[in-house]
Amino acid sequence: MSFNQVTTFLKKIAPLAELSKEQLQKLQTPDRVLASHLTVSGKKYPAWRVQFNNARGPYKGGIRFHPEVNEDEVTSLAFWMSIKTAVADLPFGGGKGGVQVDPKKLSAKELEELSRAYIRAFYQHLGPDTDVPAPDVYTTPEIMAWMLDEYEKLTHTKAPAMITGKPIEKGGSLVRDIATALGGVYILEEAVNKLNLSEKKVALKVALKVAIQGFGNAGRTMARLLHERGYSVVAVSDSQGGIFAEKGLPIEEVEKIKDEKGSVIFFPAKKITNEELLTLPVDIIIPAALSEVITKDNAAYIKAKIVLELANGPTTPEADEILYKKNILVLPDVLANAGGVSVSYFEWLQNKKNEHWSAEKVNEELQKKMVKAFNLIWNEYEKSKNINFRTVTYVQAIKKIVREI
Ligand code: GLU
Repeated sequence: MSFNQVTTFLKKIAPLAELSKEQLQKLQTPDRVLASHLTVSGKKYPAWRVQFNNARGPYKGGIRFHPEVNEDEVTSLAFWMSIKTAVADLPFGGGKGGVQVDPKKLSAKELEELSRAYIRAFYQHLGPDTDVPAPDVYTTPEIMAWMLDEYEKLTHTKAPAMITGKPIEKGGSLVRDIATALGGVYILEEAVNKLNLSEKKVALKVALKVAIQGFGNAGRTMARLLHERGYSVVAVSDSQGGIFAEKGLPIEEVEKIKDEKGSVIFFPAKKITNEELLTLPVDIIIPAALSEVITKDNAAYIKAKIVLELANGPTTPEADEILYKKNILVLPDVLANAGGVSVSYFEWLQNKKNEHWSAEKVNEELQKKMVKAFNLIWNEYEKSKNINFRTVTYVQAIKKIVREI
């Protein structure tokens, strides 16, 4: 979503959130847009850190390495992070980073150099109580470890809480690796209960059918977790295409093929396109990869009753209207994928207090957080008239931020 769309959206929502002119103005303006160029092997890569809003606490949000990322996109994503941290009720604001690079074209050495260069460019604006980055698209725990190391060298401090999503041995949290998907599972289960979807299915002795678009970390973990919980994952896909099996896919075997051959399409099942996946006759669709995949052109054909947005920004505003009219419940990204940043918060807390939580403890805290966030919104949603679930989510989050400005 462009930042222009963010401001249009904010104007639209302003009356519902009862925003004053000044508050609206403040919400439309990032606190700081930091830009630089990182040089690796003689090549320059544009890089940004956008600190959108710290009304509720230190700026928080991932850094993405992507060939098409730009300042406008990073700014929008930083705005959405401030909404997401408010939805999950974390004591953080919103920020986001990006480097315009195709990391697949870099050697391991160059990737490390780029990660360290990012910190050299922005470290004066980062810190455990200032701005706390994390992984995002194409950035990994290993990259977080390089970044932490560079930061600690430059500042002569020990500061594991300056970045989250680290490897466990560098102060990372258990469960962080599956947290985005697991948080999504908790949100989905709440929604399934509210809509009484599983009761009907239990009576018919059939599992709920799910189609998942994207088989990166979030998508494949989601497929595995839902499969383990008795859902029938009938379709999955990656950038090369998708596969479909009416009776459900054996996810572990699909994962094996993905690891061995690089794509799920090599698994022996019916081939489908990424577009076809979204309009399958299933109960739940989960876009877990790209943004803007549910559009005005395909929304009318969606048959699922729930759309769980594990990716950031997968549904366009026009499509959102269509889905609402079709009575499809859209669980928005800022709630559905907030499990990642929630466990980032637990990691930050553990680092600050020098604690090490067990996987059970992290899991329990995550579940509590997600269930609470969902129900706060659901209660408002039930009281509201002619407002979709997404809008109710945003309005609540914006009210929380504005209270602290
Ligand atoms: N990049 C993730 C997101 O978009 C996680 C951010 C974080 O942990 O700070 O929510």
